[in-house]
Amino acid sequence: MVSKDLPFTKEEILKITEKYPTPFHIYDEKAIRENARRMKSAFKDVPGFKEFFAVKALPNPFILKILKEEGFGADCSSLPELILAEKAGMTGDDIMFSSNDTPAEEFAKAKELGGFINLDDISHIHYLEKAAGLPEIVCFRYNPGPLKEGNAIIGKPEEAKYGFTREQMFEGYRVLRDKGVKRFGMHTMVASNELNSDYFVETARILFELIVEISKELGIQFEFVNLGGGIGIPYRPEQEPVSLEAVAKGVKEAYNATITANGLAPLKVYLECGRIITGPYGYLVSQVRHLKSTYKDYVGMDSCMSNLMRPGMYGAYHHITVLGKENKPPVHKYDVTGSLCENNDKFAIDRMLPEVEVGDILVIHDTGAHGHAMGFNYNGKLRSAELLLREDGSVVQIRRAETIEDYFATLDFEQLKSFR
Ligand SMILES: *Cc1c(COP(=O)(O)O)cnc(C)c1O
Repeated sequence: MVSKDLPFTKEEILKITEKYPTPFHIYDEKAIRENARRMKSAFKDVPGFKEFFAVKALPNPFILKILKEEGFGADCSSLPELILAEKAGMTGDDIMFSSNDTPAEEFAKAKELGGFINLDDISHIHYLEKAAGLPEIVCFRYNPGPLKEGNAIIGKPEEAKYGFTREQMFEGYRVLRDKGVKRFGMHTMVASNELNSDYFVETARILFELIVEISKELGIQFEFVNLGGGIGIPYRPEQEPVSLEAVAKGVKEAYNATITANGLAPLKVYLECGRIITGPYGYLVSQVRHLKSTYKDYVGMDSCMSNLMRPGMYGAYHHITVLGKENKPPVHKYDVTGSLCENNDKFAIDRMLPEVEVGDILVIHDTGAHGHAMGFNYNGKLRSAELLLREDGSVVQIRRAETIEDYFATLDFEQLKSFR
């Protein structure tokens, strides 16, 4: 039988629900820290390695503070994300600002914090200069476009809205050089939830080769390369995680063959992963409110798409454990649904589970990235609390659940009374 482990028992969850009612997301601090250390250890021989956690995946300052302690920085793409990172004690070299369609005030805040600014378009050189002045170090996001043959691994970057074309990369760095900028970075991000480690090695090779070409042509020296995020996680129990050791080994070999061979070392290697850092270590805990049998059998939860969008939005698989029934056979086929007036508000379709009863607690796995963060208030649904399971087994609330007052906070009912 396929299964996924949990860091807590049914009894422990029942105890937690006495204080914090379902639904909630709970994150496993010990596992997050161990995973961070595993990543650092895998990349220890890659020059200047550093991970900038993609804040959008789990924008909670308590989590950011933990990751800061583990030596990670933050990858931000909006003003609130920059402020969250700042609140968690991340400034300067701890901040990567990889945004697109960026407003001036966000560039200004990123510069004020002393973070690395990663430009998404050649027109942003002038825009940034006007908005905040050019910083000492500037990075461009590369879109490799229609790649030459032999790069079948990397899909269709030319369909993506992000980044500079190849020609714009040469032109952009020339403009920066001529404006007196002396320090340079290069970035790309072409994958999402990718489980093939070759993909990331290939991405590195593409960037390293471009760095060699541009360095030679323009006579500039690159300080860092940012290989982006997008490393996938095994949402399905039968999937294998990406071997970070294999990625690190491949990146190191490509580095030696290009950067070192051309006398361009040291070049620091950065990542800005979100999903792989926290994804597997978060769980949506929710209770069965109703059972319904019509043309299919439905399990109606006390949570919905406001708590986890991925299944409804992308048809994504999230494993589900019925607490206390881990060893019961999955004999019954269910659709596991939320309460939105939207038929795609389903956590699972045709899922085989043990016989479910009203009041059972279901744990939806792998909600630690792009889970709570993607929630919305459609249909007047409120977002849940976020809890942290500490290393000593205690639990702290790191974000309270939304209330109906939060939902109404942007409306003025006084104004409504006199409105005709
Ligand atoms: C979303 C995103 C990331 C993180 O992606 P993951 O799949 O969570 O690793 C990193 N960088 C940029 C620019 C992104 O948009």
